[in-house]
Amino acid sequence: MNMDFERKLAIPMEVKEMYPLTEDLRQVFERRDKEIKGIFDGTDNRILLIIGPCSADNEVSVLDYFSRLRGLADEVSEKVYIIPRLYTSKPRTTGEGYKGFLHQPDPNEKPDLFKGIIATREIHMRTIKETGFTCADELLYPENYKYVDDLLGYVAIGARSVEDQQHRLTASGIEVPVGMKNPTSGDLTVMMNAITAASTGHSFIYRGWAAHSKGNPYAHAVLRGFNDMRGLASPNYHFEDVMRLKALYDKTELPHPGVVIDCNHCNSGKNPLLQGRIIKEVLSFCKDSNDAKSLVKGFMVESYIEDGNQKIGGGVYGKSITDACLGWKKTEKLVKEIAEML
Ligand code: PEP
Ligand code: MN
Repeated sequence: MNMDFERKLAIPMEVKEMYPLTEDLRQVFERRDKEIKGIFDGTDNRILLIIGPCSADNEVSVLDYFSRLRGLADEVSEKVYIIPRLYTSKPRTTGEGYKGFLHQPDPNEKPDLFKGIIATREIHMRTIKETGFTCADELLYPENYKYVDDLLGYVAIGARSVEDQQHRLTASGIEVPVGMKNPTSGDLTVMMNAITAASTGHSFIYRGWAAHSKGNPYAHAVLRGFNDMRGLASPNYHFEDVMRLKALYDKTELPHPGVVIDCNHCNSGKNPLLQGRIIKEVLSFCKDSNDAKSLVKGFMVESYIEDGNQKIGGGVYGKSITDACLGWKKTEKLVKEIAEML
């Protein structure tokens, strides 16, 4: 092969021995796990809000953001259930750009995969300990899931991964809810096939083991907009899109039909300031349609301390170095408005 093998990395069991889940953190995980599953099985009617930076790029500013989110989550907890986005690996359209905390715990330094694995487990653990939140992360590299499987409250399969067999089979062995995004082309059947594949058990090779998964009844849809044939961003959060998705769900026997509307990416055309308007529109048609209301479980929002984004090394505290985000002040206002609408 045309690459250098720098070092053999610690396996998940070794990293977990170095950074074990303590009993108090395990209890937080279990309580949150029940609450989050309650939203997807319909026993809890609160609106889920998966919210936070596009990428976790800096431990200090991300934890600062999460501690602000903690206060806000407590204020709206009767109506809105918050899961922070703590995204440690980033898919890159052309391979260029920041690949995330897992590769570069410090975006200004060279990639260090060993440090990255440790730092990823550490930041998830610190977040649970300091804020009581279990977080959402993207399953970009299925084999890495076992480094954090005892810490994540929610897993997303990205638009570029949702057609991949190993992602689908791995999702079928994940215990927590897994959100399957529509692919960048927008074909909803690809996403539905991914949900179906994840919902039943499979035998496959995982980390060098002959493994047998049990199936994930909490796999569900995430609508994130798509690129049309000319490469232009097109939304798929409107009432008609949600009804189209319902018709696809109606043809299946899937146990917990549900959708999370991702308000950024191709739904906002990457204009993060539009995210609030999208949520308000969806909540408004959910008021008029019980079908929409029972399918829509919540929203994904990209939000950080500052509005917008910057280049790596730009130096503005709490400003995204990947997709542009909604800043804290606007986020706070929006989350309160959502709670008032419900
Ligand atoms: C993201 O959530 O930041 C992301 C990369 O999403 P998608 O896979 O929808 O592009
Ligand atoms: Mn993003």
